[in-house]
Amino acid sequence: MTGGCHCGEVRYEVRGKLHDAKMCHCGLCRKLHGHVSSYARVEKDALHLTRDEGLRWYRLSDQSDRGFCKECGSSLFWRPVRSQEVAITPGTLDGASGISTSAQMFCKDKGDYYPLDPAIPAYDGDDED
Ligand SMILES: [Zn+2]
Repeated sequence: MTGGCHCGEVRYEVRGKLHDAKMCHCGLCRKLHGHVSSYARVEKDALHLTRDEGLRWYRLSDQSDRGFCKECGSSLFWRPVRSQEVAITPGTLDGASGISTSAQMFCKDKGDYYPLDPAIPAYDGDDED
């Protein structure tokens, strides 16, 4: 499975299991993405960058970094510092993803300008709470 940013300065391959996506409604994600975000986890070892000229990491906190393209602004990755996993934004995959969306997280922080999707399990916080 391959993916990348809009302009092509960041390209990646997933050579392993891609987990189902989770949407996040929190205020931070809505600031970073302009709206609800979506993340699909993969083992760090399974994510291979085939072009990273545009890739920049933005330190969100001492717990996580956000990867984006400095040329076109595409949001690509979210990386917890102390984890063997990284999350990709499934909208950056080329073609069909083969996954579905298993949860909506931080629904209590969602914006007031759109409804939740009743077909997707919704949680006030993290779905593991
Ligand atoms: Zn780009």
